[in-house]
Amino acid sequence: MSPMTDPPQPELAGRWRAAREPGGVIHLDAAGCARASRATVDACREYLAAESRVGGYVAEIRHSEPLARARTDLARLLGPGLTADDVTFHHSASTAFAALVEAWPLPSGGRIGVVRSEFGSNAMALAARAARDGIELVDLPVDGDGHIDLDALDRVGVTGLNLDLVTFPHIASQRGIIQPAAEVAARAAAAGVPVVLDVAQSLGQVLTTGLGAAAYVGTSRKWLCGPRGVGILAVEPRIVERLIPSSPNLYTATWDGHGLPVPLGGIARMGIGESAAAARIGLAVAVGELLDAGPEAVTTRIAALGRLARRRLDGVAGWQVREPLEEATGIVTLVPPDGVDPHAVRDRLFTDAGILTSAFPTSRAPRDMTGPLLRASPHVYTDVSEIDALADALGSHTRPG
Ligand SMILES: *Cc1c(COP(=O)(O)O)cnc(C)c1O
Repeated sequence: MSPMTDPPQPELAGRWRAAREPGGVIHLDAAGCARASRATVDACREYLAAESRVGGYVAEIRHSEPLARARTDLARLLGPGLTADDVTFHHSASTAFAALVEAWPLPSGGRIGVVRSEFGSNAMALAARAARDGIELVDLPVDGDGHIDLDALDRVGVTGLNLDLVTFPHIASQRGIIQPAAEVAARAAAAGVPVVLDVAQSLGQVLTTGLGAAAYVGTSRKWLCGPRGVGILAVEPRIVERLIPSSPNLYTATWDGHGLPVPLGGIARMGIGESAAAARIGLAVAVGELLDAGPEAVTTRIAALGRLARRRLDGVAGWQVREPLEEATGIVTLVPPDGVDPHAVRDRLFTDAGILTSAFPTSRAPRDMTGPLLRASPHVYTDVSEIDALADALGSHTRPG
C-alpha cells in the first residue's frame, strides 16, 4: 500500500487491538461508544469486588488515588491553567452541559453565541434557559461546511455581537468538522466573553490542550474509551465561584435551615455526589492509556483513518460524505442516496456483515440536518481492512427502504 493511504502508528494500533477483547464485530462507532480496553474493564471489575469485600464507601476511600489521578490527567488534557481541583465528574456530557447552562450567571436579556450544528441535548438546554430568562441565542457566522468563520467573526467582532457567553461543540456529532476553538476562544477572551466548549467528541479524538475555554464538558465512553455513565466537567477557578447551581443538595451546598443554601467552594458545587464509582475507576485507566500512548500519536492516526475512510466511502452506492474529505477528524458522516433509509442500512450492515456503524435522525442536531445520516467513526485500533470491509458492504447493502 502506498504511504499516501497507509495510516501512521500501525504498531500502536496493534497494541490497542491486542489490549481489547477480540472483536465480535467490525467496530466503526467510536463516536457513539468506543471499545474499552481489557485493563479498563478489569479495573471496574476489581473495584466492584472491593465493594463486595468492604462496602462501597471504604472501597472508594481505598481507590482515591486513581480517582484523583483521573482528574489530574483530564486537567492535563484540557489545560494549561486547569488542575485536578477544577475537574469533576457528571452523569454524562449532556447533564454536565445542562448544569453549566443553568448555573451560568447571565443578565436577563443577555446574549449567547451558538452554532447551528449544536448537539440536540445542548440545544434544548440553551433553548430552555433562553426562554426562562429572555436570553437571545445568536448564531455565530459559519462557512458552508459549518466551521465558525473567523474572518466573518472578525468583521463584526465578538464585541460587536455584544455576547455574554459563547458555546459550541469542538467537533460535531453529526458532521465530522472541527471548529477553530482556540482561535474563537482567544477572540472571545479579548472581548471579555467566556467560552463553554463541548469536547464530548474531541477528548481523545483530537488534541484538546491550549484551547483556552472557560469551561469544558466531555464524556467517557466515546474517544476516551472509558466506561459508560461518566461525564466530565471542568471549569476555570475564576469562573466557578460565580456559578449558582439551580438544584443544590447535600453534596453541593450547605444549609443551616434558614434562607438560601450556600454553594460549596470550587468545583464541588457542580458535582453530582452519588455515582457508580466503578465507572470512574475504569475511566482513570482509559485516560492513563491515552496519555501513555501519547495523544499526538493517537490523534494523528485517527485523523488519517478518517481521511482514508472518506476517500473510500464517498460516492459508494450513491452515499455522499458530508464534511470536507481532508477534515482532520475520525468522524465520517454520509448522506444517503434518494429513498435509502440510513437506519435500515445500519441494521443490515450489523446483522448481515457484522459491521457496527451508527445512524441518527434529524433530532441529533435539528438546525443542522435535513434528513437522517449514517456515520462511521474509526478509532486508533481500527485496521484499514475494516474500512475496506465497510466500503464493500455499503456497496452491497444499500437499497431503498
Ligand atoms: C455525545 C455528545 C454529547 C453528549 O454526550 P453524553 O455523554 O451522551 O451526554 C454532547 N455533545 C456532543 C457533540 C456529542 O457528540
